[in-house]
Amino acid sequence: MVGGVETVVMMTTTAAGSDLASALREAVGAHACLTEPGDLRTYECDGLAGKRIRPAVVVLPETTEAVAACVRIARAHGASVVPRGAGTGLSGGAQPIDGCVLVVLSRMNRILEIDLPNGRVRVQPGVINLDVSRAIADAGYYYAPDPSSQSVCSIGGNIAENSGGAHCLKYGFTVNHITAVTVVLADGDVVEIGAPAVDALGYDLLAAVVGSEGMVGIVTEAVVRVLRTPERTRTFFATFPSTDEAGACVSQIVAAGIVPAAVEMMDALAMEAIVKATGVDWPLDVGASLLLDVDGTHAEVEHAADAAVAIARAAGAIEIRQPKDANERALMWKGRKGAFAAMGRIGPNYYVQDGVIPRSSIGPVLREIAELAARSGVRVANVFHAGDGNLHPLVLYDARIPEQDARAERVASEILKICVRYGGSITGEHGVGADKAAYMGEIFSESDLETMNFVRCSFDPSRLFNPNKVFPTPRLCGDIPGHYHPHPAEASDLIGRG
Ligand SMILES: Cc1cc2nc3c(=O)[nH]c(=O)nc-3n(C[C@H](O)[C@H](O)[C@H](O)COP(=O)(O)OP(=O)(O)OC[C@H]3O[C@@H](n4cnc5c(N)ncnc54)[C@H](O)[C@@H]3O)c2cc1C
Repeated sequence: MVGGVETVVMMTTTAAGSDLASALREAVGAHACLTEPGDLRTYECDGLAGKRIRPAVVVLPETTEAVAACVRIARAHGASVVPRGAGTGLSGGAQPIDGCVLVVLSRMNRILEIDLPNGRVRVQPGVINLDVSRAIADAGYYYAPDPSSQSVCSIGGNIAENSGGAHCLKYGFTVNHITAVTVVLADGDVVEIGAPAVDALGYDLLAAVVGSEGMVGIVTEAVVRVLRTPERTRTFFATFPSTDEAGACVSQIVAAGIVPAAVEMMDALAMEAIVKATGVDWPLDVGASLLLDVDGTHAEVEHAADAAVAIARAAGAIEIRQPKDANERALMWKGRKGAFAAMGRIGPNYYVQDGVIPRSSIGPVLREIAELAARSGVRVANVFHAGDGNLHPLVLYDARIPEQDARAERVASEILKICVRYGGSITGEHGVGADKAAYMGEIFSESDLETMNFVRCSFDPSRLFNPNKVFPTPRLCGDIPGHYHPHPAEASDLIGRG
């Protein structure tokens, strides 16, 4: 009997699934609609590879109209929609949800218009971050936000995560470089938000879309702001006895009024992995290092770089190196940007944590993390955007040893609590996604979360896009767990329940 019931349920699900798949196939074409288990496997996870869920259908639309058609079909069949760019996200934002339609934007990868007099480039969402800079480099322009994954991640994913990168210290995160987006909403309507010119009239809805982690709609076009390549860049690499001196150096440089384009920090364990993986000739008998770029006009750079070097010396730098040519500089940055992948040289598995703290607390926080690691019997390497206080502790473990993965997750979770205790936050740039929803309560009150949910639901009242992510408990718009109490905005008659 039980078996019979199961069969009926499965048949119903399968029949519904095949209706959904055939409607989607008709909308995008068979070449852009995947349903075979072997094809779906590729899309079971994003960069948070420990968690795998198979989507019901994967579609790879090539136009805004095709995206809108897929959204309408998914909605009509009661299926959730999960947008996906290149799948490099580290918080499970593009992780499928059971029975979902995964809308992959990687085939929408054309640069549509280059408007250098106005410093604007119009792109489709699947364009790879670095390809924007490559397309305009000869004209002396570039796109500033540079996640370390910039050679593979997409502009659509960058917008959804409000991605950062080494050079966001001086130039700002993705939100500062997007001036307009085209978005497919949950009912399949297509809206344009923002404008190529700055300061579009009305509420700043653009800021609500950037960083919304794929929960308000699917971005199908974007206008990005591009900048003139700086006249000169000076790079230097400085080593220190410990992370204390390196951390103090970072805040002293910024406090002196110097804003380097980038200040990245690596501790001894991270340097060991990078040296093994990339062959940079960095010393391994030091406690930490900083990699700095200072850019601007010739005069500005000479003055600021000399001042920063003097501060590093006074802060206890052991050695300060300047690359002798462009190749050596590129190798230094390759080392830093390839740091996550390099972890494979020193441990079989690692968990990337992402937290943020005030930059003046780098020394004490890294000491607490080291103590926690020693107590827990795991190793933690640190390589991060020090100027922004954006930590990336990499918790190393061996998944073949029972309980090690659980222990690593516990350590990663404790690290977030340390960040919050120091006045920081649970994510600097990788987003909350599926991974960190449970930690939202560490920094937001119930009414904070409810207010955010109202904003999200004003775009997507049915929670079609990426449900069960970011918010700690699955709730309907306006629902507050436990006994009913009015949201402050309701109590003051600003909003009502529909
Ligand atoms: C080695 C490595 C280094 C990294 N370094 C950095 C770094 O320095 N800084 C940083 O910020 N991040 C970094 N990341 C994380 C990741 O690369 C970024 O979050 C990136 O922006 C994700 O882009 P993606 O195209 O891969 O998006 P995906 O992983 O596919 O998706 C990310 C989120 O965006 C949503 N989404 C994707 N496309 C759209 C769209 N068109 N419309 C609406 N929602 C969409 C998804 O639903 C998901 O929630 C790194 C990752 C790796 C693996």
